[in-house]
Amino acid sequence: MASETIFSRILDGELPCDEVYSDEHCLAFRDVQPQAPVHVLVIPRKPLVNLSEVESQDQMLLGHLLLVASKVARKEGISSWRTVINNGADAGQTVFHLHVHVIGGRSLSWPPG
Ligand code: AMP
Repeated sequence: MASETIFSRILDGELPCDEVYSDEHCLAFRDVQPQAPVHVLVIPRKPLVNLSEVESQDQMLLGHLLLVASKVARKEGISSWRTVINNGADAGQTVFHLHVHVIGGRSLSWPPG
């Protein structure tokens, strides 16, 4: 389970966010340092650290996060976009509460750095 992070404080209402979507399982809000015209983070309300920590009981929740990512992209009016889940510090994870980046609105290069 994740300890207190910036994202758990957003979920608790202690910190503000630019909300895009919310339901009983997750919250989506704009990244404060957007890497593209659309850059939204979808986070579970459950305090999961990252994909290394998930268990089979999280299967529905993980699927739900991807469905919400797709819903967010539609809402933002983009048809090409990338989802990113950084797992661990060496992969670029800086906030240790699971989150799905939804990035789009410009041409994206591959492979990532
Ligand atoms: P990651 O590097 O994959 O852990 O992604 C963490 C993301 O959270 C980064 O893209 C940050 O810009 C973003 N971020 C950090 N603090 C906030 C915040 N208070 N509100 C929105 N996004 C944030």
